[in-house]
Amino acid sequence: MQIIQSCREMQKLAAELRAQGKSLGLVPTMGYFHEGHLSLMRRSRADNHVSIISIYVNPTQFGRGEDFTTYPRDLEGDAQKAQNVGVDIIFAPADKEVYPAGYSTFVEVEELTEGLCGASRPGHFKGVTTVVAKLFHLCKPHRAYFGQKDAQQARIIQQMTADLNLDLEIVVMPIVREADGLAMSSRNIYLSPQERKAALALSRSLAWAQEAYNKGERSADLLIQGIKKIIEKEKLGLIDYVDIVDADTLKEVGQIERPVLVALAIKFGKARLIDNCTLGSG
Ligand code: AMP
Repeated sequence: MQIIQSCREMQKLAAELRAQGKSLGLVPTMGYFHEGHLSLMRRSRADNHVSIISIYVNPTQFGRGEDFTTYPRDLEGDAQKAQNVGVDIIFAPADKEVYPAGYSTFVEVEELTEGLCGASRPGHFKGVTTVVAKLFHLCKPHRAYFGQKDAQQARIIQQMTADLNLDLEIVVMPIVREADGLAMSSRNIYLSPQERKAALALSRSLAWAQEAYNKGERSADLLIQGIKKIIEKEKLGLIDYVDIVDADTLKEVGQIERPVLVALAIKFGKARLIDNCTLGSG
């Protein structure tokens, strides 16, 4: 396994591998790996000749007062885990490589970025799409892998890829959870033992919504109210949003008639956790 820190070197190697007829998979990450990340890497390895992962805590996707400086980092541990699942190349550039002095170009997807996390984290997705577009140009993947855990992000990346005619396939993989239901996240490390227990309200409330939907409930409002009631029982949690949106347009719906995304963001102390499920997608 190779670790590359230079953008030029990464781009040159990707071009050489492509010229040799190799298929390239890319898993963009911010590091501090858990099984969710590793599931994307395993899939990339199964699909492609060469698997590249990027580890980069991207400053432009963090707002003021967010956790950019304290975001957990462990390059050595991550490299070991990546090697164990058979990753070929880690691309881990420094900030000045990605955003050199005078940097002034950004990629912005409209509409899909307005609601959900886009509303509570202004500018977040502009940072995400910019860095992902750059990673696509540097690593030249045939396929790139994203988690449904960040459902809005995955939808936005698909839109950017289509709108800019980027010549690659976006593969979205299911949410990987802890045994008790908590969606895996690098930010779970921020949780105290009490908050960790309380955070189970996220997956519990989604499971309740799934069951209510299965029993015939189609009112988005009633489902949202039911979810909020379950979350509010946990005094340590602070609701950022609970929303039900069309799975394709990410616009709010009243009655559920087409596949929807049930998405929530809840703060527990320092940790802002997100989770979601889809209803009506078969
Ligand atoms: P991050 O390092 O948090 O930016 O995540 C990198 C990629 O891993 C993103 O595409 C995430 O959606 C995905 N991911 C993060 N957590 C999970 C999870 N629990 N299950 C599946 N994919 C995940």
